[in-house]
Amino acid sequence: MSALDPVPTSWHETHRRLISGETTVEGLTHAAFERAGALRELNAFLELFDDSALAQAAAVDKRLSNGSAGPLAGMLVSIKDNICYKDHQVSASSHMLEGFTSLYSATVVERLLAADAVIIGRTNCDEFAMGSSNENSAFGPVKNPLDGAKVPGGSSGGAAASVAAGIVHVALGSDTGGSIRQPASFTGTIGFKPTYGRVSRYGLIAFASSFDQIGPFANNVTDLQAIYYAIAGHDAKDSTTSQRASVPAAIPRPGKLRIAFYRECVEREGVLPEVRDSMLRLVDRLQAEGHLVNDAELPLLDHQVPTYYIIATAEASSNLARFDGIHFGHRSEKANGVEDTYRLSRSEGFGPEVQRRILLGTFVLSAGYYDAYYAQAQKVRRIIRSATLATLKDHDLILLPTSPGTAFDRGALAADPIAMYLQDIFTVQANLAGVPAISMPLGQDAACMPFGAQLMARPFEEPLLLSAAHAIFEN
Ligand code: GLN
Repeated sequence: MSALDPVPTSWHETHRRLISGETTVEGLTHAAFERAGALRELNAFLELFDDSALAQAAAVDKRLSNGSAGPLAGMLVSIKDNICYKDHQVSASSHMLEGFTSLYSATVVERLLAADAVIIGRTNCDEFAMGSSNENSAFGPVKNPLDGAKVPGGSSGGAAASVAAGIVHVALGSDTGGSIRQPASFTGTIGFKPTYGRVSRYGLIAFASSFDQIGPFANNVTDLQAIYYAIAGHDAKDSTTSQRASVPAAIPRPGKLRIAFYRECVEREGVLPEVRDSMLRLVDRLQAEGHLVNDAELPLLDHQVPTYYIIATAEASSNLARFDGIHFGHRSEKANGVEDTYRLSRSEGFGPEVQRRILLGTFVLSAGYYDAYYAQAQKVRRIIRSATLATLKDHDLILLPTSPGTAFDRGALAADPIAMYLQDIFTVQANLAGVPAISMPLGQDAACMPFGAQLMARPFEEPLLLSAAHAIFEN
């Protein structure tokens, strides 16, 4: 295999060849490192975990040969640089945490290793997962593997690129307002945000705790489903995880589905005509296949992004208070005295977008403004959640685009934070409502850049959501 041959992009097919002994996990792991090295200019990885990955690969090969290998044997996985892996560095793509080594592993990492997956390295992202283009990383932007002048989306841009470039089978990212689904849409991959509380956040560096969810990227629903069931489920270390059982299921064929379609999302100004046309063709096809598709109203569309940004920044300002150069993080060498240490360490350690969010979040929580902004946003969030659940009472799924457009040029939105925030217009609803959502590749624009369609389902109805995504988009 040459360095530029992608590793087989489907893990479940590779798994068969591992079982039959045609290939080895060590061989696959070496090939992934070679490919990551050849594609270094993408800047998708901040670090490759050569030693631990090769040791795990050799151990999994042994277990494969004696028939005791785990359910994800030989799955090559990357983890976003905000997921802790004991004795490995983690930085949230920030100078604030540069050089920091994790003291423990995230629950998702422990579950992956126990299932015999191989963790190849940590992927670049927007600093503290704040951004929609991966241009906010302290360690440089990530290039979209399909066109190097374009962004891969964000904040899990390196995760998306690591799958789109065929370096790993699947990637773990985090989605607070769209950070898995939007980069999946921009790179032609599948991105999945589970129900809030379905996957443990223990060991995920917190951004906005009431929205954050860990989830996977993959090239097909079968692989996505395999990793999802390996990481999902209750965790005593994260009290927000649900006690409900998460049962692995073969992908059942869903019957006739009742789908609510947000027509407003494709007809509004600023939506790429190719996105609109593909979505309308999809609706026609679904109806022709016998599914019921109803137009539904999207709750408070123009209020969703402001609501998200008020609550997310408020939570971030609190979560990031611990990075002060004393408890955690970079300590300024120039500082004299306590106040100086806080001020200089935080000014030097955090980049401009993170500083903007901490300021905004502190403002909306401050005594004179709390009621007008934070308390108000919580009420609007409640209305959006109730309206979303009401639509899902008589529909199995909600259908809408993932993003209004395709990947944009690096630098195109960098000077305009509001334009960047509006990238999230169709993704924040799932986080505000806490429901599961998936982005599936749908079409391409005139320049052959991909875009996705998004499906949401009722909380904890991942089995239906995944089987519907497979039936609609992969058959
Ligand atoms: N783009 C959104 C933001 O910047 C979402 C980020 C995320 O989901 N982590 O907040």
